[in-house]
Amino acid sequence: MEFSEKIITLAQSAEAALADTFARVDKISFENTQRVMRAFAEHRVSEAMFNPTSGYGYDDRGREVLDAIWADVFGAEAAFVRHSIVNGTQALTIGLFGLLRPGDIMFSIAGKPYDTLDEVIGNTGEAGNGSLRDFGVEYRQADLNADGSFDLERIKEVIETEGDRIKVVFIQRSKGYLNRKTLSVAQIGDIISYVRSFGKDFYVVVDNCYGEFTETREPCAVGADMVIGSLIKNPGGGMAETGGYIAGTARAVELASYRLTSVGCGLEVGATLGQNKSMYKGLFYAPHTTAQAIKTAYLAAYMFGEDGLGFEVEPSWREPRYDIIQAVITHSRESLCAICRGIQAGSPVDAYVTPEPWAMPGYSDEVIMAAGAFTQGSSIELSADGPLREPYIAYLQGGLTYESGKIGIMSAAQTALEAMGNVK
Ligand SMILES: *Cc1c(COP(=O)(O)O)cnc(C)c1O
Repeated sequence: MEFSEKIITLAQSAEAALADTFARVDKISFENTQRVMRAFAEHRVSEAMFNPTSGYGYDDRGREVLDAIWADVFGAEAAFVRHSIVNGTQALTIGLFGLLRPGDIMFSIAGKPYDTLDEVIGNTGEAGNGSLRDFGVEYRQADLNADGSFDLERIKEVIETEGDRIKVVFIQRSKGYLNRKTLSVAQIGDIISYVRSFGKDFYVVVDNCYGEFTETREPCAVGADMVIGSLIKNPGGGMAETGGYIAGTARAVELASYRLTSVGCGLEVGATLGQNKSMYKGLFYAPHTTAQAIKTAYLAAYMFGEDGLGFEVEPSWREPRYDIIQAVITHSRESLCAICRGIQAGSPVDAYVTPEPWAMPGYSDEVIMAAGAFTQGSSIELSADGPLREPYIAYLQGGLTYESGKIGIMSAAQTALEAMGNVK
């Protein structure tokens, strides 16, 4: 891969400007690694725990200890992490169905949840498929204010009028693919204190996807009852082959465990089939890998932003970051496609492939996706995608190593620059 002088110089300026920021990211990674290693030591992790079990999976020591470690690392009373959870959406589904009962209300206070939850909640999709709505669970929402803060008035109004029926207050930590700010753990802590101040009895559930290990504590440490995420994002460290997790209070996790397996069986069963080692290794790597992805995102913000190629970016390289997503707002179909082509060409797998916009089930516009990952759909590995509609936003995320992430971003910047006809 050959880079032009302009791209090489730009990457150098970016790294010079980001030196202090990168040092801060490394510090967070060190602290989180320390927390993970302390838990490994306290729970006496040993090689026997990586042995596979089959059938019911009774007495799978590796599974039980990993659950306990996960709880410690996430600042929770209890947790479970399973390779058999297929993605973040299923983990969220397990958590929500575990807690909610007919007649209850789920109240989302940080705007609309992630797209794949629409059908789970029953806001879209066919009636009768078994959504929460089909089971008599109602849904309320408070959007965030334009500046990204919580709409305290609306939240107060809903809790004061319907608080006795609210069972779950739902908060999505990362912006996901919405045009909003990602929440910091401190902000999540403040809003949890606020909703608790009304004295009602509900579970606070946080969609933790993309947020793990970007800070030195997780939402359970500031009062969340349940946090949920995917192992092919941050906490799998690029090592876990697949999976998901739920951590939280003992009761909330117990209820979710009855939905994971069955009422009564809970966490007593579940063969690990040899997946324990990659999940342990994934957690071990996760703080570091997340830091690599965050550095890659900062680099992208600089190189594509006002000090680089001149695109609008969100967040800018000067802002703190609480997830691994970088948006580049291109306002141009060609630029969006060029960025995706560059990311693909700068990937370790399928670098020879050219991504093309395509109609995708569940999306109203064509979508272009670039991913050359070892694990299918893994977004802790460098990837880029975006719907082909104004304002033509490329969402970038991941980077298993900063070096490979940097190559991917330089490649994307170069193809974008070529597509712009070398005009800044
Ligand atoms: C990725 C993600 C999910 C779950 O997506 P899956 O593709 O099912 O793993 C949920 N919420 C947010 C904010 C996400 O980023």
